[in-house]
Amino acid sequence: MARAKTSHVTPLFSEIAADFRSVVGPDGFLDDRSAMDAYLTESRGLYRGETPLILLPSTTAQVAAILRLCTRYRIGAVPQGGNTGLVGGGVPCSTADRPEVLISARRLNRIRAIDPENFSITAEAGCVLATVQEAAARAGRLFPLSLGAEGSCQLGGNISTNAGGTAVLRFGTMRDLVLGLEVALPDGRVLDSLRSLRKDNTGYDLKQLFIGAEGTLGFVTAATCKLFPQPRTVVTAWLAVSDVRSAIATYAAARDQLGDDLTAFEFANRLTVEFVAKHIPGSHSPLGVASPWYLLVEVSTARLDADLALQVQEFLAKLHATGLIADGVVAASGPQRDALWRLRHSMSEAQKKEGASIKHDVSVPVAGMADFVAQATSLVQGLVPGVRVVAFGHLGDGNVHFNLSQPPGTDSADFLARWSDISHQVHEIAVSLGGSFSAEHGIGMLKVQELASWRGGVPLQLMQAVKRAIDPLGIMNPGKVFPAEF
Ligand SMILES: Cc1cc2nc3c(=O)[nH]c(=O)nc-3n(C[C@H](O)[C@H](O)[C@H](O)COP(=O)(O)OP(=O)(O)OC[C@H]3O[C@@H](n4cnc5c(N)ncnc54)[C@H](O)[C@@H]3O)c2cc1C
Repeated sequence: MARAKTSHVTPLFSEIAADFRSVVGPDGFLDDRSAMDAYLTESRGLYRGETPLILLPSTTAQVAAILRLCTRYRIGAVPQGGNTGLVGGGVPCSTADRPEVLISARRLNRIRAIDPENFSITAEAGCVLATVQEAAARAGRLFPLSLGAEGSCQLGGNISTNAGGTAVLRFGTMRDLVLGLEVALPDGRVLDSLRSLRKDNTGYDLKQLFIGAEGTLGFVTAATCKLFPQPRTVVTAWLAVSDVRSAIATYAAARDQLGDDLTAFEFANRLTVEFVAKHIPGSHSPLGVASPWYLLVEVSTARLDADLALQVQEFLAKLHATGLIADGVVAASGPQRDALWRLRHSMSEAQKKEGASIKHDVSVPVAGMADFVAQATSLVQGLVPGVRVVAFGHLGDGNVHFNLSQPPGTDSADFLARWSDISHQVHEIAVSLGGSFSAEHGIGMLKVQELASWRGGVPLQLMQAVKRAIDPLGIMNPGKVFPAEF
């Protein structure tokens, strides 16, 4: 069945608005244009949202009632978390004959339970990621998801994008961290699978359908997630390597010799770090000499291990002696470690100051990263002479943000007009190396065409079948992941 056609869509009458208002009350109802602005402006400025109404439910029952109304009136429902997504997934595109309401999870913000002995936490979708981390830490546990937007992104958004971040190497993505989910479905039913079990082989693992679904199947209202022991010993190093092949060899040696204590393995090219030094006060590479590539490596354990720093230093000294790493420092204190992570987390912000950028979030098997970077760099330099490659990311996950800053002195609009053409060719290289055109940011609106190009055939047909089974009227987040009329 196709998504509801225009003729079936009821215009948003004021009585319908009154119905929504009676569900959420005055505190959960926003129709004032100026107050709506912050919800409609997307973090990279690529999309500007439009909606007649923003609803801020504070209970699961309210979310379910809103979706029931959306189904009754054939109104699109666009879930939004912290609005830090990078593909336009939480942006409503309401029109007069195809209305969409934005449903913000902001007021669904309770930590429902922490079970330190089961190493689990149950929290509502609108809890900011940093709040979940802090709640876990207060209970002496670690919630390991960590990313640059953690002060604003929300648990429901993290689940709906299957967020990755800087500790995937050790703890996995959200798919690995979620034990149970509570989801309001488009018809107003609630899927309550908020279980905190590690083992539960009772048929299909339905929660996985909603993780990474970008709000196209239902509204995640709460989740039970895994916790881990707090790290008691952490060693963080900043290294210089001459090329991506050396970075890969360093990663393989670190994983082999430091084992599962290896928690993060990030990389960045020289230009990225120069942009940070130029634009972010107090942030710069701690090494005296510039290098073509840098690595941020973290090793951690729940044990109190006074020898770990020494082991890491000996390991690095060996690699230095073989010439694999050119230089490096190990953070000697908490503040030094924080400074290294600040440098890493400032990379996107620093790039913004260099004008327009075209961004890619690709993954390849780790061993293919050097080929990807070499081929993609040569491609874009041929397509746009003078383009500046800003490449950084999670090398241990085979994930690079292969970003392009416009050549200095050129027109931003002309550069951005080439986004889809350039990206398609960059993605072609990633796919040819066995990789993905979207490693962690998802599809949203930005990559709908790319999904059809690279995941067409059986995978897309099955995804469409699932969408139709759960959301036959197509009210959940229209135009995201799939074209508006698929
Ligand atoms: C500086 C910066 C660094 C980042 N680093 C990383 C990184 O390292 N790794 C990474 O994976 N991402 C990263 N991101 C992207 C972004 O932060 C993540 O995708 C994050 O998980 C989005 O969460 P959010 O709450 O902001 O979701 P939003 O942007 O509000 O929404 C994202 C998608 O999820 C849907 N959604 C939101 N809440 C719900 C809900 N409760 N139920 C159903 N659907 C919902 C929306 O409809 C939308 O499709 C970064 C972004 C920034 C700005």
